Amino acid sequence: MRHIAVIGSGPAGYYTAEACQKQFGDDVRVDIIDRLPVPFGLIRTGVAPDHQSIKAVSRRYEQVALSDNVRFVGNVTVGQDVSIEELVDLYDAVVLATGAPADRPLGIPGEDLPGVIGSAAFVGWYNGHPDFVDLDPPLGSGEFAVIGNGNVALDVARILAKTVAEFDGSDIVGHALDALNAAPTRHITIVGRRGPHQIGMTPKELGELGHLERARPVVEADDLPPEDADAALDPGLRKSVTHLRNFAVASGNGIDKPVTVSFDFFARPVAVEGDGKVERLIVERTKLDDMGAAIGTGETYAIPCGMVVAAIGYKTTPIPGVPYDDKLGRFTNEEGRISPGLYAVGWARRGPTGTIGTNRPDGFLIAETIAADQPAAAGKQGRPGLDALLASRDVDPVTFRDWQKIDQAEIGRARSGSPREKFVAVSDMLGAR
Ligand code: NAP
Repeated sequence: MRHIAVIGSGPAGYYTAEACQKQFGDDVRVDIIDRLPVPFGLIRTGVAPDHQSIKAVSRRYEQVALSDNVRFVGNVTVGQDVSIEELVDLYDAVVLATGAPADRPLGIPGEDLPGVIGSAAFVGWYNGHPDFVDLDPPLGSGEFAVIGNGNVALDVARILAKTVAEFDGSDIVGHALDALNAAPTRHITIVGRRGPHQIGMTPKELGELGHLERARPVVEADDLPPEDADAALDPGLRKSVTHLRNFAVASGNGIDKPVTVSFDFFARPVAVEGDGKVERLIVERTKLDDMGAAIGTGETYAIPCGMVVAAIGYKTTPIPGVPYDDKLGRFTNEEGRISPGLYAVGWARRGPTGTIGTNRPDGFLIAETIAADQPAAAGKQGRPGLDALLASRDVDPVTFRDWQKIDQAEIGRARSGSPREKFVAVSDMLGAR
C-alpha cells in the first residue's frame, strides 16, 4: 500500500488526491491534512462570496473526499502539531498544497499605517477566515484605494461597491455584510501601475462592474491605447479591454449613481500618508518602457482614502524545514520536487497565478512524478502512524463526516437569501461537530 499525505485541502490538494486515486487505484491511501477544521481552502475563504457558481466546484472535491481511500484530517497544523520530517518518515510522499495565503508587502513608506490592508486579510475577513475575523477594516471614510489590476482587485472593489440586496444568494459572512452596509461608500479607486493592455482582469469578472446597482465604473478615455492596437491582444484580454472602452463611453454619458469605481491607470503607489491612519495614497504617474514595464515620470498626485487594500499578489507561507524561495514567495522546487519524498503542487509550487482549474493538470503531473520517482511503495506506516502521533500529542483531528455536520449547521443558521452562515471561530466549528 502506498501512503500519500497532501497538506492543504484547497483545489490543488483535492486535485492531487483525485490524480493519485487515478494513478495508483486501490493501492493508495491519501490523507488530506488541513490546519482548519473545514475543508476546501481557497474555495471557502478566497473565492468571492457572490461567485457561488465558482464555489460549486467543491461538490466535485466532495466526491473525492467521500471515497474509501481518501481521508480529510482537519484541525492539524503541519510544522506545529506534526513536523515535515515526521510526515516524510510516515508517508511515501508528502505533497505541499498549501497555496499562497499571505500578502506580499507593498514596500512603500506608510504601509504600516492603520488602514493599509492586504487583500488576503480583507478577502479573508468578508469570507469568514478565522485568522481575519477581527480585522475591523476602517470603512468609515467611504473612500477606498485598491492597488492592483488583477481579478482580486476587482473582487475587492466589487464587494465594497455592492448593496446589501446584491449580496442575496452569496455566502458573505454576517459581520462583513453589516459593516459594508453601514459604510458611507462613495468612491473606490482601482490603482494600476501599468495600462489597460496590461491588466490581469478577466472579461466575465470585469463585465460585472458595469451592472452594479448603485456603482458605476469610470475609465478615462485618454488612458486607452488606440483601438486598432487591441487586435494584437489575446482574445480574453481583448474582451476585457472592450469592457474598459465601454466603461469609458458610459463614463461620459453622465449616468448618475452614488458610488464610483474609478480606474487610475499608469499610477504607481509611492507612499501612504495620514496622521496616525490612512488619509491618502500618493501615486506617481508612469509610462511604459519598451519591455512594457512601468517607469516613473516624477509627477505625483494624491488619492484621498481612508483605507488602502493592496491586491498585488500573494505568497506561500513558509513551513519549518522546507526550503523557501523568498524572492518568488513559494517553496523551492524543481517541477514540484522539493527533496526525496517531498513535493509541492499548485500555487505553493508555481506561485499565485491561473484559475482554479489550472491546478487540475498540476495535480496529475505530481501524481505522475511520484510514480516515476517511486515505482513501488516503501512499506511506510501512513495513517495509523499519523493517528498514533496525533493522539500522543492530544491533537483533535476533524474528519470529513465531522465537516458534514459543521456544513449542515452552517446551512441551518443561514440568514434569508444566503446558502449558509459560516462559523468564523475555530471553537464554533469544532463545537458544531
Ligand atoms: P494578479 O492577476 O497577478 O494581479 C496582481 C496585480 O498587482 C497586477 O496588476 C500587478 O501589476 C499588480 N502589482 C504587483 N505588485 C505591485 C506593486 N508593488 N505595486 C502596484 N501594483 C502591483 O494577481 P491577483 O489579482 O492576486 O490574482 C491571483 C490569481 O487568481 C490570478 O491568476 C487571478 O486571475 C486569479 N483569480 C481569479 C478570479 C476569478 O476567476 N474570478 C478571482 C480572483 C483571482 P503588474 O502587472 O504591473 O505586475
